[in-house]
Amino acid sequence: MIESLDNEFRNYRFRSDRKFFSALPEAGRKMMAVTRKKAVSPKPVIEIYSAAKGYSLPGKKLSSAIINKDKEARLVKNGVKHTWNFYYNIFKRNSIDGSGLALVNTVHYGKRYNNAIWNGRQMIFGDGDKKVFGSFTTDIDIITHELAHGVTQYAANFDYEDQPGALNESFSDVFGIMIKQYVLNQDVNQSNWLIGENIMLGDHYALRSLAATGTAFLNHPQWGNDPQPANMDQYNDLPNNEDGDYGGVHINSGIPNFAFYIAAKEAGGFAWKTIGAVWYAALTESLNNRSDFHEAKNATILQARKIFGKGSKVEKAVKKGWKAAKL
Ligand SMILES: [Zn+2]
Repeated sequence: MIESLDNEFRNYRFRSDRKFFSALPEAGRKMMAVTRKKAVSPKPVIEIYSAAKGYSLPGKKLSSAIINKDKEARLVKNGVKHTWNFYYNIFKRNSIDGSGLALVNTVHYGKRYNNAIWNGRQMIFGDGDKKVFGSFTTDIDIITHELAHGVTQYAANFDYEDQPGALNESFSDVFGIMIKQYVLNQDVNQSNWLIGENIMLGDHYALRSLAATGTAFLNHPQWGNDPQPANMDQYNDLPNNEDGDYGGVHINSGIPNFAFYIAAKEAGGFAWKTIGAVWYAALTESLNNRSDFHEAKNATILQARKIFGKGSKVEKAVKKGWKAAKL
């Protein structure tokens, strides 16, 4: 009822506008016409700082000239720019919050710092200990993974524990690998589906594999074997504390990772055009901070139907993915 009244009012207004404008002489019509400004397309705002091996954030802002001379700063700037382009070109999302948030990054954080993190406000990159890890800026999928945590924060905002935490990690791996594929123009068959293949020093080691879950590193002198499961039968029920990786957020993420990989392979072509669109819609429209794997399964199936149609190839691919992960 309200809607029809509203429409009636709008129609009345349009009609009277037309009447008014057509009655004006040419010069008056020109003056009254709405000036159409050229649409300004959004651009990424990227700031790079250096902590100079210290721990204060964000540190000292780097000029373009310094960024060009600093390899880590350059890699981060490039990776962040690619990430912004991906979200904007594919999903019309302006920056990680969807509203043009400036992307703040600090490189050379701490001494031999073995991590890259999104701290809720900005990105932080360590140089690595040079024994197990090199610089955390080396792999674009690490940069894209961390920025995806930012997107998740402004979308489903999964709690960082247990299954919601594993979804938080998995969505970062999924978008991390997808943005790498987008930058390299790789389809699902061309990608190696590895996260962090360069930051882990030594041949044959990567941080995670979405395709061959649980094999990213084997017999590593310090880390042993990759503990990630690929399906629910191997789910790791770990304690929700630091030692237990808060319920195995980096471990059980292998399960939804594997579901995504199988679904993407099944759908074929570029992942961001098929399953990626489904995962993005689920993340931004359906899921919430307490969502678990089953909810992720249901949400992605529903989104696949909504976007690609009931009984579509993509819907079937999504179902096949979750089935492979035994969900
Ligand atoms: Zn992460």
